[in-house]
Amino acid sequence: MIDKVPIEVIGYINSCFSEKFGTPRQSGLAPSAEARLKLVEPFNRREMFRGLEEFSHVWIQFLFHQVRTEGWKTTVRPPRLGGNERKGIWATRSPHRPNFMGLSAVQLKHIDFNNGVELVLAGVDLLDGTPVVDIKPYLPSSDSLDEASEGWAGRAFEKLEVEFLPAAVQFCSVYENETGVPLQQLITEILREDPRPPAQRQKKETFGMRLYDVNVRWQVRAATCRVSSCEKVG
Ligand code: SAM
Repeated sequence: MIDKVPIEVIGYINSCFSEKFGTPRQSGLAPSAEARLKLVEPFNRREMFRGLEEFSHVWIQFLFHQVRTEGWKTTVRPPRLGGNERKGIWATRSPHRPNFMGLSAVQLKHIDFNNGVELVLAGVDLLDGTPVVDIKPYLPSSDSLDEASEGWAGRAFEKLEVEFLPAAVQFCSVYENETGVPLQQLITEILREDPRPPAQRQKKETFGMRLYDVNVRWQVRAATCRVSSCEKVG
C-alpha cells in the first residue's frame, strides 16, 4: 500500500491577506476579497487552461503552509461555536489537519495571460503566499447538493452591523479611486463576520488588521462594529 505521495506546488496565491487575523473563515464570505493565483512552470502551459474560462467558479486545493510548524490536532474548538466546544478535526475545516490541505470554492473572474498565467479569483479565504496544489472547475450539478445538511456549522451566528467614522469613509473612497479596490465594501464583508477570536469577544479594546497596504482599526460594542481608522502602512 502507498503511504506517501509526492505533491508538487503548481502556483502561489497573491492576496490582500498578510495575516491570519481578519482572513475570512470560509471562501465566499467576503465576495470582494480578490487574489491572483500565479502558476509556475511546467504547470502554466497555455493548453492546460483551455476551456477553464467557461466556468464561473473553481475549486482551489492548497496547503495551509503557515500552520505547519504548529502541527496537527485531533480536535479543535471552532470559532463558530464560540470556542466552547471541541469537534474532531475531520468534522471541521480547521487548518490544523494532517497533510495541511485546504479546499476553497472561489469565483474565477478572469485568466490573465499577460505575464505568465494568473487566475484572478474572488471570494478567497487564502493568505498571501499560499502554495496551491490543484485547480478544478466547480460543477453545480454535482458539487452543490440540495439534500446536504450543514451539521454544527449551520447553527445560527449573529452577524455584526458595520459602521464607519467619516474619516474612514473618506480614506476608503480615495483608496478605491486610486487602486480600484472597493475597500469599504471589503472591510464590511470581513467585519460583519466578526473575526475576533471567541476569547477576545468580551474585551472592549481596539482591534486591527492589515488589508493590502492599509491598517484598519475598529471597536465592537454589542452587535455593532465601528471602523475608527484606515491608514496606509509605513
Ligand atoms: N476554505 C478552506 C477549507 O475549507 O479548507 C479554508 C478554511 S480555513 C477555516 C480558513 C482560514 O485558514 C482563514 O481564516 C485563515 O486564518 C487560514 N488560512 C488561510 N490560508 C492559510 C495558509 N496558507 N496557512 C495557514 N492558514 C491559512
